[in-house]
Amino acid sequence: MKVSIIGGGPGGLYFALLAKKQWPEWDITVLERNRPDDTFGFGVVFSDETLGTFREYDRASYEAIRRAFAYWGDVDVVYKGHVIRCGGNGFCGCSRVTLLGLLQKRCAELGVNMQFRHEAAGIEEFGDSDLIVAADGINSRVRETHRAHFRPSVDLRPNKFTWLGSTKPLDAFKYFFRETPHGIVLAHCYQYEKGASTWVIETGADTWEKFGFDTMTEDEMLPVIERVFAEELAGHKLIANRSLWRNFPTIRNETWVMGKVVLIGDAKATAHFSIGSGTKLAMEDAIALFESFRAKGAVAEALAHFDTALSIDPRLARALLQNLIGNAWKFTQKTGTPRIEFGVGPESAFCVRDNGAGFDMAYKDKLFGAFQRLHSPDEFPGTGIGLATAQRIVRRHGGQIWAEGAIGTGACFHFTLQPR
Ligand SMILES: Cc1cc2nc3c(=O)[nH]c(=O)nc-3n(C[C@H](O)[C@H](O)[C@H](O)COP(=O)(O)OP(=O)(O)OC[C@H]3O[C@@H](n4cnc5c(N)ncnc54)[C@H](O)[C@@H]3O)c2cc1C
Repeated sequence: MKVSIIGGGPGGLYFALLAKKQWPEWDITVLERNRPDDTFGFGVVFSDETLGTFREYDRASYEAIRRAFAYWGDVDVVYKGHVIRCGGNGFCGCSRVTLLGLLQKRCAELGVNMQFRHEAAGIEEFGDSDLIVAADGINSRVRETHRAHFRPSVDLRPNKFTWLGSTKPLDAFKYFFRETPHGIVLAHCYQYEKGASTWVIETGADTWEKFGFDTMTEDEMLPVIERVFAEELAGHKLIANRSLWRNFPTIRNETWVMGKVVLIGDAKATAHFSIGSGTKLAMEDAIALFESFRAKGAVAEALAHFDTALSIDPRLARALLQNLIGNAWKFTQKTGTPRIEFGVGPESAFCVRDNGAGFDMAYKDKLFGAFQRLHSPDEFPGTGIGLATAQRIVRRHGGQIWAEGAIGTGACFHFTLQPR
């Protein structure tokens, strides 16, 4: 089996090492345009839970990651001098170059062939390969060259952002909001090593223009942003590294497979930087692709499995959230200080929680029946099919949905999407 992997980012390297460990006879080559220690950006961050998954799949790289990472547990939102702290999260971070270095080392130990400073012109270069993994990042040439097949959609978000670093130590994941005469500027920050932190600066297009960032060089913009966050930086400087202002593109593809070619990582789908999960998702794609090969063996079957195994119908996913959040919205109408939360709870189940009218747990099984109402339509009007629809969508994806609640204190709907 000859495998060519275009792109030596976290996605490409992690698939290479997992596959080579499992099937040492495979001839695997990673082609990367940059040098091994060349990298854009600063730090990456993982949750404790993600590290647990890495431990399961490759203990050696997990141990190396664990040794190299800085840990913290709190998320702070800072606005107008007020700090709202949310504890117990469990994050860890390290520099991207450290992560790539330890994945490269592990690939080398296992016998993966890595060719740096190799620009892959296209998939035609790998005609003799049995499998071509396009892990070539957000601007994937493979995806763009074959747009008619992959049918990508790109939703360019309106805000501007740039990725900077600093020497400022931080004790939590920080979201600093600053009001300026030109508008609000936000910094998403976390420490990833002793004396090194990532500062992703985000602002609306209007504010960005009023600051004149559109015409400034990196050297000109740094002191301007330093002045905005002077208090938070406490004398530390910001550092640029090819830090262009960009609009975040949310990329999705209709299919991830074309013959023996498969997209993974940012080439396949992007995750907004505010959730700090792009690296994790690229590595989880590598795991999913590896699992498809473990389950199916042959290339065509494994890729067909990968293409459908994770696919969640985006229209249905939207309808599911609209129903659950709409439900929470409705049942918090009469609550003094309504609160609706969306998150991931134990065992990776998603949850939509509110502090509204709630329900009696004795009737929890009636909740998902069509036209089964626990409150009168006069009190809370609705179609009576929202939760039944939500359950159908979840089941269609092979998941489960359940609820907890109490009258007068709110409800929490948990669901899993164990996709087909
Ligand atoms: C502002 C910002 C902040 C972020 N913050 C975080 C964060 O905190 N945590 C996190 O986990 N993620 C973060 N990310 C996202 C993260 O960087 C990516 O999601 C992640 O690196 C995706 O991994 P990948 O392997 O798919 O692609 P990449 O890491 O982009 O790797 C692709 C590789 O392919 C190579 N390549 C591309 N084309 C070719 C070619 N033709 N020939 C040879 N080589 C090629 C590139 O040089 C690159 O090394 C952030 C992203 C941005 C923009």
